[in-house]
Amino acid sequence: MAESVHLDRRGVLFVLSSPSGAGKTTISKKMLGVDPDIALSISATTRPPRRGEVDGKDYHFVDVETFKQMAADGEFLEWAHVFGHRYGTPRARVDELLDAGKDVLFDIDWQGAQQLYQEAGPDVVRVFVLPPTMEELERRLRARNTDSDEVIAARMARAANEISHWDGYDYVLINDDVEACYGAVMAILRAERLKRRRQIGLIGFARDLIRSVPDTDTTIDD
Ligand code: 5GP
Repeated sequence: MAESVHLDRRGVLFVLSSPSGAGKTTISKKMLGVDPDIALSISATTRPPRRGEVDGKDYHFVDVETFKQMAADGEFLEWAHVFGHRYGTPRARVDELLDAGKDVLFDIDWQGAQQLYQEAGPDVVRVFVLPPTMEELERRLRARNTDSDEVIAARMARAANEISHWDGYDYVLINDDVEACYGAVMAILRAERLKRRRQIGLIGFARDLIRSVPDTDTTIDD
C-alpha cells in the first residue's frame, strides 16, 4: 500500500457564531473532541466567570483596565462589546496555533467575525448557526435553568439582533438536529481544508509527480 501523503497547508480560521442557545457550544465541543487538528481560540473578557467556568480554559477573565491596556497594546486580533462586556481574541495564541499547523476555532459574535475577516480575509471561514424557531431557542435557554426571566428576555432580544447579521457569513445552517448540524459543520471544515490555495504543499508535490515521468515527445502532427 502507498504511504499516506502529508502536505503542508495554511490553517483555517473557523468562526462559529450563533445566538446563545442555538447549539454552537455543543457543536464546538464535539469538533474539538474528535479532531486534534483544530484548537479553540480562548478569548479574554471583562464579564465575570459563570459557575463552572475556568480561567484560562473557557476565557481569560480580566478587569476592564487590563482589557483596555491589551487593546491599546494591539494584543487583540479583534474585540467587541457584547452584552455590556468586552470580549477579545488574543493574537498570540492564534499565531502559535497556526504556526503549529492547527486550524483555529473561534466562538465569537458577528462583530468579531467581521473584524477577523478584515484582518485575515481568505483564511477565514464564517459559519452561522440558526435555531429552527424562536420558540425553540427560548425553550433551550429556559432548559439551561441558569437565567432569570429578565435575562432570558434580554438574550432573546440579543438573539434577534445577532440573527439579523446572518448574511455576513459564508455558510448558514439551521440547527433542528444537533447531530446533522455537527455533521454539516465538519463537512464544511473538511472541504475548506482541501481548497487548493490552502494546500501550499501541493506546488512541490504536483511538480514532483510530473517530473517522475520521463520526458516523451508528444508531438503528433508530423
Ligand atoms: P458568553 O458571555 O455567553 O460566553 O458569550 C457571549 C457572546 O460573546 C457569544 O455570542 C460569544 O460568541 C461572544 N464572544 C465570545 N468571545 C468573543 C470574542 O473574543 N470576540 C467577540 N467579538 N465575541 C466574543
